Amino acid sequence: MSEIEHWYKQEVDEDNIFGAGVCFCGKLGYHIDCQRKMSAIEDRFDKSDKNLLKKYAVNGEYGVLKGHLEEFNIVCEKLANHLRQKLDFDESKVIENEHWWFIPHGWVGVLGFIVEKKSDDIYVVGSRVNLDFEAYAYWHGIEGYSTGNGELYPKRM
Ligand SMILES: [Zn+2]
Repeated sequence: MSEIEHWYKQEVDEDNIFGAGVCFCGKLGYHIDCQRKMSAIEDRFDKSDKNLLKKYAVNGEYGVLKGHLEEFNIVCEKLANHLRQKLDFDESKVIENEHWWFIPHGWVGVLGFIVEKKSDDIYVVGSRVNLDFEAYAYWHGIEGYSTGNGELYPKRM
């Protein structure tokens, strides 16, 4: 079995969208064409991920700059207080921009929050997807925020 076939079988069974041994297309079995389609999509997502990181992340990568950990922890505390929730997110998926942080703490319909460095304003990144560009859904929110269409999270009294 080629490496890609192996990967594909694993994906199908792990994702288990329709049940074990059922392809992404919803039909029983593993189909070589669906596998090609999936890996083409995955490639495009990877490519846009790299481009968007280059565009938005200070170092072109996910994560917090080493010297900024303290600042980041303070921001997380503020966000937690604001939401009145304990934050739970994958730190390796944080995006640090010159002007903001993306913190992938979310729940159903919420993919994370953009916290502005200067103002402490908090924008919610929802799961609404603009179908015009292929990328993980939070990038659609980040792009929306960056083009002035961000959704300010309401301040609580
Ligand atoms: Zn299929």
